[in-house]
Order: sequence, then structure tokens, then C-alpha cells
Amino acid sequence: MLSTMQDVPLTVTRILVHGTLVHGRTAHVTTWTGEGEPRRRSFHEVGVRSTQLANALRDELGVEPGQAVATLMWNNCEHLEAYLAVPSMGAVLHTLNLRLPADQLGWIVNHAADRVIIVNGSVLPLLAPLLPTLTTVKHIVVAGPGDRSVLDGCAARVHEYEELIEGRPQRYAWPEIDERQAAALCYTSGTTGHPKGVAYSHRSIYLHSMQVNTAESFGMSGGDILLPVVPMFHANAWGTPHAAFMAGASILMPDRFLQPEPLAEMIERERPTIAAAVPTVWQGLLAELDARPREVSCLRNVFIGGAACPPSLMKAYGERHGIHVVHAWGMTETSPLGSVAHPPGGLPAEDAWPYRLTQGRFPASVECRLISADGELVPWDGKTPGELEVRGPWIAGAYYGGADGEPFRPEDKFTEDGWLKTGDVGTISPDCYLTLTDRAKDVIKSGGEWISSVELENQLMGHPEVAEAAVVAVPDEKWGERPLATVVLTDGATIGYEDLRAFLAERVARWQLPEHWALIPAVPKTSVGKFDKKVIRKKYADGDLD
Ligand code: ADP
Repeated sequence: MLSTMQDVPLTVTRILVHGTLVHGRTAHVTTWTGEGEPRRRSFHEVGVRSTQLANALRDELGVEPGQAVATLMWNNCEHLEAYLAVPSMGAVLHTLNLRLPADQLGWIVNHAADRVIIVNGSVLPLLAPLLPTLTTVKHIVVAGPGDRSVLDGCAARVHEYEELIEGRPQRYAWPEIDERQAAALCYTSGTTGHPKGVAYSHRSIYLHSMQVNTAESFGMSGGDILLPVVPMFHANAWGTPHAAFMAGASILMPDRFLQPEPLAEMIERERPTIAAAVPTVWQGLLAELDARPREVSCLRNVFIGGAACPPSLMKAYGERHGIHVVHAWGMTETSPLGSVAHPPGGLPAEDAWPYRLTQGRFPASVECRLISADGELVPWDGKTPGELEVRGPWIAGAYYGGADGEPFRPEDKFTEDGWLKTGDVGTISPDCYLTLTDRAKDVIKSGGEWISSVELENQLMGHPEVAEAAVVAVPDEKWGERPLATVVLTDGATIGYEDLRAFLAERVARWQLPEHWALIPAVPKTSVGKFDKKVIRKKYADGDLD
């Protein structure tokens, strides 16, 4: 029997229209400008400007449904306008990671066949040298301050964002879109080979946004102010801009001011209630807040994900700044929200603590399973490790094959029965909390035993004189691999390897203790701010060992 319910497509257009109409006068987008007053626009203004942008893209730039419109932008209001306008007109928003090496960026633009690039003026020096290699780009739209002269002589037509949208119609006959059509495109940072494109559908973004807004995830609603520090090119800022526009939560956009000091200042002045970023950002902000305390108690929940959150970091925010940290797990391929570590209800703080350190539980829409090295299902006993596989309506089932190619499903990423292989290794407890021990490629395989690099890092970062620690495997004749600990000390620290080794010896099994150490000035980071273990291995593990 078929249901008797209406079959209304779930689209980004719904989010645009709803946010503009229903939250138009109560919610705002504030963009930090670094000096003077931030720029503020109501959701109504954002909706109108998005509509004008869609008109301009169609009428002036000739963008057609299905074509890719790229952004090379910081987190700001204009970026949100593109987020809403481009998918709603049936085109595909392609967020470019402005921290990628130039050759990768150029490859991605050509692969996605981007027709337009909307770019922040401050990022033009990065884009300009790439232009001769871009084969499909016809228009560059520049938003915000920055020297335009670097574009002189380029083959694409150059437009000013504000001039382009000014005076355009404030209405658009939004097309009926099949909810399974691509709405947004995001490439993973290719650690091996070329980057791989994940094409989110209207449906996946809509459902994901609803999930982000539930209490078991970010729980955003009308009174909230969201601070997405996570870039809008990193898995759609974890889906938070769409979710906030849907829920009517105001948004504080940090633009390019992502350093600890301006972040601390904008938190104190604009009083966001929810924020999201990778651990390294929070680590930097913590040092700033410790050095120059500010009134930041407005933050109700700080979401940390993208890499394991060190327990010492979570504790420090709670104890020293009254900020509740929530740990979450996800990937570009999972939209990205997977699991969130809210403890079971009603537990006293000390019993809730171990749950908060896990990667959390999955929502109803995301199924998970653990698979052992020999391909068997692993029991959820909290002890037996396996590789995490997931499936659900906002989980990728393939990668984008390019304008002329077919979607592709590499064997190391997708199972035959349609699950995504995450490459993450961990356990699941009987009450369904996921604990990741490592990425499969980072785990240290020593004499038949596995050593978790994350566990060693977390312990080391619990030492008061350690600012950051990253542990990687180095080849070892006898054991196969052994850990190398690279450590960044805090200013004025006096400890040495022996002290750190002794500190670790009280916390992990003796056979796990690293015998290789390197004190380094800073841990190399990836384009999305995570520890870059590939670079660490290359830089420190081939030579330079103590
Ligand atoms: P990249 O591969 O460039 O880092 P992603 O952001 O898609 O891009 O990375 C996803 C990966 O990040 C996951 O597979 C996992 O290894 C790691 N990750 C994300 N969140 C967490 C977390 N809370 N704890 C541990 N690892 C995490």
C-alpha cells in the first residue's frame, strides 16, 4: 500500500524561503570586519540578496541548472548568500578550499567544470596565478576588499559582487528541483592521488540540517548565535550555516579573522552561544584566553570535531572558562555530521565525563558497524576494535566523476553492499558509544600490537608544559613500527624528553612508550587545520630522530 502523504521535495530552496520569511526579522548575520563595526544583515536582507544573486547569475552570467558555481571565500555573509542562491536556482555550489596547494585547487576547478568563481578580494593573489590553467571559468565575481589589479588581462570576465546584485529583481521563480539533484560539491583533501568530490544532494542537506538542529546534535534554535569557525569550505562548515538559517539562529561570521585574539574579541563582543571548529583552533584560543582572560561564558556549547579532542582541552575549557565542550565525529563524505558525544541523560558530572570523551552516538538516520581485519562484524562490547563503516541518507555512496565522468566507488572507500568505509578504527560500547582509537593509516603497528597515536597524543597534551603533540609511526627493524613523539612545548617550559617519557610511563603501558622524540616549533597542519601526519612523517621520521 502506498502512503497517502504528500511527496514534497526536500530542497535548499525551502531553507532559503523559510529562513527569509519566518526568521527574516528576528535573526541576523554579522560579519566581523577586523576594525570598526561588523557588517550586519537580517535574514530577510540575506534572503533578498540571495535572490538578487540568483537573478544575476542567471541573467548576466548565463548560469544554467546543473552548472557549478565555485566560491573561494572566507566565512562571511556573501558566502552564505551564495550557499542559498546557487542550489536554489538549480546550479551546484562548489566550495573551494583556499588553503589547498595551487596545483590541487586548479585541478579541482577543472574537474568540477566551474563556470563562475565568487572570490573574496583578499584571496585574489591566490587565484590570479591559477587563472591561465582554468579551462571552464568564464566569470570571476569579486567580493570585499582586496587589490583587483592582479586580475588585469585575465580571460574571464570580472564582476564586482555588490554591483552585480544591485537593482536585480527581488523575486525569482525558483525551479522545482528533484531532491536527489546535486546542490553542493566539496572535495576531500586528497592525501593520496587527486582530491575526491562529494556531491551533496538537496535532500541530504535538508535532512542533515534537521538533524544538526536536534537536541542530540547541535540543538540550535531561535535564541542562539552560531559562530562557525570551521570554514565554509570544510564540509559546508559542518552543515551549520544551512541549519542555522533553517532554525533562525543568528550567525556570527569570523571572515578571515581566525587567529586566537580576534576570535576572543568577537566572542566577548558579539556573544555567540554555539561555536564549532577543529581542536587546533580551540587549543590556540585556550592559550589566548588563559593569557588574557575575557568574558566568554556566553558560549553554551562548543563543538569540537574533525580530529580527536584531547581530554585536557575539554577539561581546561570547562574548569578555567566555564565552557561546555561537545565532541563530535564526521567526514566530508558524511555531510559531515556522524556521531555526537552527549552523555546519557541524568548522569552526575563525573559519570558523564567518560562518555563526553568518546566520539558519541549516531542518530537514527546513520547506521554504523565495525568490521574486523578479516571482514567480520565486530561485537559492540567496548573492547574489540574494528574499522567503522556507515550508511544513511546523508552519507556519500560514490565520488563525483567530473562533468564527463561516471560516479566512482573505490574499493577502499565503499563496500559491495553500499556502506562507506571510514578508515577510522575504534570500538563501540554496549550502550552504543563510539570510541575511535586512530585512523587506520595512523595507527602504529608494533610487533603485532597496535599503538594508538591519538592516545599517546592525548596523554602528552595533558602535561601542563606541552602545547601540542603529534605521534607518528617510524619504521623499526625489530618491531615493524615504533612511535615517534613530536612535541611543541609551551612558552618558558623547561622539561625534556626524559621528563615526558616518565610522565607517559605512569599513564600508558611500557611497551607503548615512544623511544623517538623531537621537540618542534609547531605541528604542521593540513588545509583544514588538523595535524598533518603525512608531513610530520616526512619531515621528522626520515632522519632527525633523537
Ligand atoms: P580530511 O581527511 O582532510 O581530514 P575530513 O574532514 O573529511 O577531511 O576528515 C575526516 C576524518 O577526520 C575522519 O575520518 C576521522 O579520521 C577524523 N575525525 C573527524 N572527527 C573526529 C573525532 N571527533 N575524533 C577523531 N577523529 C576524527
